[in-house]
Formats: sequence, C-alpha cells, structure tokens
Amino acid sequence: MASHYDVLIIGGGTGGIMTAAQLRRKDKQLRIAIIDPSKDHWYQPAWTLVAAGTFDMLATRRSEASVIPPGVEHIREHASTFEPEASTVRTQEGSAYTYGHLVVTPGVQLNIDDLPGLREALRTDAVCSNYLDPEKTHRVMANFKGGVAVFTQPATPIKCGGAPQKAAYLADEFFRKRGVRDRTKLVFATPGSVIFGVQPFRAALEDVVRRKEIILKTFYNPVRIDPVKQEIHFKWSKPGDNNCVLTEEQGLPEKIEGEGTIVMKYDMLHLAPPQSAPDFVRHSPLAYADGPNKGWLEVDIHTLQHKRYPNIFGLGDAAALPTAKTGAAIRKQAPVVVANILQRIKDGALSKEQYSGYSSCPLVTGYGKMLLAEFKYDNVRDSDPLLSRLFDTSKPLWSMWVLKKYMLPWLYWNKMLKGTM
Ligand SMILES: Cc1cc2nc3c(=O)[nH]c(=O)nc-3n(C[C@H](O)[C@H](O)[C@H](O)COP(=O)(O)OP(=O)(O)OC[C@H]3O[C@@H](n4cnc5c(N)ncnc54)[C@H](O)[C@@H]3O)c2cc1C
Repeated sequence: MASHYDVLIIGGGTGGIMTAAQLRRKDKQLRIAIIDPSKDHWYQPAWTLVAAGTFDMLATRRSEASVIPPGVEHIREHASTFEPEASTVRTQEGSAYTYGHLVVTPGVQLNIDDLPGLREALRTDAVCSNYLDPEKTHRVMANFKGGVAVFTQPATPIKCGGAPQKAAYLADEFFRKRGVRDRTKLVFATPGSVIFGVQPFRAALEDVVRRKEIILKTFYNPVRIDPVKQEIHFKWSKPGDNNCVLTEEQGLPEKIEGEGTIVMKYDMLHLAPPQSAPDFVRHSPLAYADGPNKGWLEVDIHTLQHKRYPNIFGLGDAAALPTAKTGAAIRKQAPVVVANILQRIKDGALSKEQYSGYSSCPLVTGYGKMLLAEFKYDNVRDSDPLLSRLFDTSKPLWSMWVLKKYMLPWLYWNKMLKGTM
C-alpha cells in the first residue's frame, strides 16, 4: 500500500524547504514529506559572488538532510509521474505516495543540448556558466588575456534573469583590476529589447552599462556555438523585423550570415543555458499543454493553486508565473501556499492570502555595489518601504552589497529555511 501524507512536497530546494518549515511551525500534527533525490542543498544566489572570487563555493552548500525541518520526512527518490485524479505520485525508484495536498516545486532543468554546440563548448577553457560551475567562471576570467568577452542569455525563461548581466558587471571590474580591460571588448548580448524591464532600475542599469563601456546588443538570441572556431551564432529576434542591424561596431568581430544570423567571435563566453520545467513536470497533466506557458505548472498566479486540481499547489521556478524566478519571490509565495493549504484542511476554502508577483533581483554592479530591484506583476516597482526610507534603492549602493554578501546568506540558512522569515 502507498504511504500517505497530509502534505507531500516535490522538491527540497528553496520552495520546498520554506513551505515545509512554515507548515510544520503552524501545525505539528501534519504528516509532511519531501521527495528530493539530492544529497545537497545549494544557496544559488551566492554563485555570482563565487564566480567573482569573493565567496567560497563550499559555503553555498549544505547537506539536504541538514535543511529538512524536524518532523518532516525526507524521501530520497526522483518523483516521476503525477496521477492527480488518484492523488498519487510515483517515483523512478518504483514507489507510490498518496497525499491530501501536493506542493510541486522542483525548480528548473538546464537544457544544455537545446543550444547546439554548448555541451562541447563547455569542455573548452573559454566557455563558462555561473549556472553550472561558478568556480570555472572564475578560472576563465583569471586566465583571460584580453580580446572579446561575450556574456549572453537564452530566449527561454531562466532563473534569476539578472544573473547573466551581473556576471558581465563583475567581469568588467575584475578585468580592470587585472589590467586587461583596455584590451577587452566586453559584450552583453540579450534576446530582449532592453537591459531590464522595470523602471527606474532600467535607467540606472543603462547608466552602469554606459559607464563600464559594455557593448549592449539587444535582440540577439543565441542559437549555436562553434567551439572550434570560437564563434557564437545569434538569431536576430526583433519581432516583425528581419533586417538585423550591426550597431556600434567598434571593431567587434561580428558579421551577418544568411537570414538574420549574426556570427560573433569570442575569446571568452559566459552564458545561461536554455531552461524549462523538469521533464517529469512539463510532460505531465499538471503543466500547460499549449500556449506561451506550455510546459510550466498551471497554477493561478495569485493563489498558486493548480487551475484544474484544487488539492495541488505550485511555486518557485517551475510555476508559470509572469514574474522573475528567484528565491526572493519564493519568500512571498510560500506563505500563500501554506495559508491556503491550512485553510483548505480546516474548512475546504482558500485563505485570503494572495501573491502579488513580488520578486527581486539583487543586481550586483561591481565589487561593493548592488542595485536591489524589487517589483511585482506588470513590471511595477515594489521596493520595500523601510529600505526605501533609509536608502535610495533606485541606485547601486554599498549597503545593498553588504546585504547581498553577508546578510542574505545568513538569513537564508537561519531564518528563511527555518520558516521564521
Ligand atoms: C547563478 C544564479 C544566481 C541567482 N541569484 C539569485 C539571487 O540573487 N536572488 C534570488 O532570490 N535568487 C537567485 N537565484 C535563483 C534561485 O536560486 C532560485 O530561484 C531558487 O533556488 C528556486 O527555488 P526552487 O525551489 O523553485 O528550485 P531549487 O531551489 O532549484 O530546488 C529544486 C529542487 O527540486 C529537486 N528536484 C529536481 N527534480 C526532482 C525530482 N524528479 N523529484 C524530486 N525532487 C526533484 C532538486 O534536487 C532541488 O533540490 C539565482 C540562481 C542562479 C543559478
């Protein structure tokens, strides 16, 4: 017979642990289990700092067992199949679990093979990604002798959308310190139309890009890498416009080839790989079957309840929510999921808690400088009123860097994962 839980959680990352810890604090009688095969739990937000050589990779890892809240069961298996009609989850290991409520939060999957050439390119000394191995990024930057350094990101949704540009800002300063910046063309190429979608942070970041003399390329969608020739191919992605224009050449080794393809040579390349919800979610009945959100968890964007299965909730990177996929967003999502599950257990109704789309992107713009961009649905600024009273949070600040480097990691391990923040 399948084991039964009042609440079964898929994924013991940021979303899973925060939800379990808060539920457990509110109701010690609940039988809760987390399915997660991983033996490690990572504090990914610090990987940007690891790449910059200013944070220890080991300090971003704790054992998964050590973050599982007391009283919560850890099932070290891979969830593989959802049978929502039977309130059952099956695992690759052959077990079946039933639940009163299910919380789905297994993060994203990095699809390296969706960008042809990337897998081979990652084996070279010139190509790196903070999403895969931030310590390698540091080595690549340290060995860089000048030339063209390209930073880019895919057209898919990605976790922490600001991370690829943070890598570029820190590289700029790192190269200056090492005396190679004047021999370097530093490119930030994005499939999007702007550096950041929310004002006034966009204007502040445009200013950072200008001051750092970063060559900003918009509508550049990476589609192929040739690791032998050290070239990256971009598809010109401006909607309704096939005429790609090469602006601000500055001797940049790029050329147009065929229909709207731009080929650029690189001496160093940093990128975020294409991303999606994990296969077992995207090919499941819990995901949108078509439309722009195809493959992502089909949840209501305010209640986080599944749109077709009322005893299922989804949060974190795997959920189809029109906001940035960050741990900061999860901090505001978890209490909504918890309140709704507890209310439903009590009387079958939903609570009054709603998620407004809050997310934040701590945009590190250099060593000792950070811009804390906080926003909610519809790209509306949502800066913390207390912080805004104390600091001008529309600008890169040293105080926010202190928050990022010292305070947030401590709060994460000691408060957020314990369900007290
Ligand atoms: C380079 C980088 C920089 C970032 N910077 C920031 C930042 O500055 N601020 C910020 O707030 N966020 C940042 N983030 C994003 C943040 O780390 C994520 O948004 C957050 O961790 C998402 O939480 P999650 O629970 O959805 O997924 P995760 O924390 O990734 O956890 C998913 C869990 O699901 C488990 N899982 C996967 N498959 C299965 C399966 N089949 N069965 C069971 N379990 C499974 C995994 O083992 C994992 O433990 C950054 C991320 C990166 C990579």
